[in-house]
Amino acid sequence: MANAAAPRVIDLRSDTLTKPTEAMRRAMAEAEVGDDVYGEDPTVNRLEAEAARLMGKEAGLFVTSGTMGNFVSALSWCNRGDELLCGVDAHLLVNEMGSIAAFGGVQMRALPNDKRGLMNPDDVEMAVPPGGYFPRMALLTIENTHNRGNGAAYTVEQMRPLAEAARAHGMAVHIDGARIWNASVALGVPPSELVSVADSVTFCLSKGLSAPVGSVVTGSAEFISRARRVRKMAGGGLRQAGVLAAAGLVALNAMVDRLAEDHANAKRLAEGLAAIPGFSVDPAAIETNIVYAELDDGDGPGTAVRLRERGVLSNGRFNWVRFVPHYGVTAEDIDEALDAVESAARAGGR
Ligand SMILES: *Cc1c(COP(=O)(O)O)cnc(C)c1O
Repeated sequence: MANAAAPRVIDLRSDTLTKPTEAMRRAMAEAEVGDDVYGEDPTVNRLEAEAARLMGKEAGLFVTSGTMGNFVSALSWCNRGDELLCGVDAHLLVNEMGSIAAFGGVQMRALPNDKRGLMNPDDVEMAVPPGGYFPRMALLTIENTHNRGNGAAYTVEQMRPLAEAARAHGMAVHIDGARIWNASVALGVPPSELVSVADSVTFCLSKGLSAPVGSVVTGSAEFISRARRVRKMAGGGLRQAGVLAAAGLVALNAMVDRLAEDHANAKRLAEGLAAIPGFSVDPAAIETNIVYAELDDGDGPGTAVRLRERGVLSNGRFNWVRFVPHYGVTAEDIDEALDAVESAARAGGR
């Protein structure tokens, strides 16, 4: 370090804050490229094939973001006026600007979910109309890991009854697997097995896997050819995108196993937080890299400000603060962050 005295910021706002590794930057500089709208970018083609292979699906499609991945998937399964079922806390319902409804004309219907974000198959059944004039139910989406559900990782056994209930009524099943790699590492199960219950899946390269940009959608060849048309419609047909896909390939080859370190750091953080007055966390509920702490004083934004003043960045909203350990955050950083939280808790008058 040039200046060891400079105060360091520990940024735990999100795993989207990760920056590309040296290996990624080298791969990006050296990437072989072509025009991907013509299907001629060899690096994009390699990433899409590799993603499909890893997910056990026929084909893949590189997209700019997880939001675009969910968007092209939903619009490939649903027509205008159709209904999409998701959990009430689903990222695609709460955090994606209503894009699927706004541009796709798809009605998004929220089902209850438990503390881990998991829906109940009985609620899928109960949502099915008795016949007559009702919207066509076209798609069920399942988020794994579940962001608002404390990063819960669902097993195949937990997802299968939902998928079966949906299929029994003619719906397709999409997994919003922005962090499916976290689920895979936490459960010790290959992603292809986890997503075997779904017709399509989106996963992010740009979160814990640390690539600068991009997500991949996978599914049948027929589904992906529809999704490719929607992607072009949304302005997502990129040209020499191999410079981005190259980082994605490094992410898949080199950055998956180390997610276990993020999970261990999240657990360490949760255990520390549980001992600090004013913060409620159940460390046993931390399955991957996301830690929500509920605040006795109900002041998420104020707590985040007090933490920021002490060099720790978090997301504070409503009555909680969220921390997401990621690549570049060490166990020592977690201990330092906990010291800052203790100090902030005292400053908060507790
Ligand atoms: C981050 C996230 C997305 C969207 O990803 P972006 O790349 O930020 O658009 C989708 N679903 C979940 C569960 C996420 O956490």
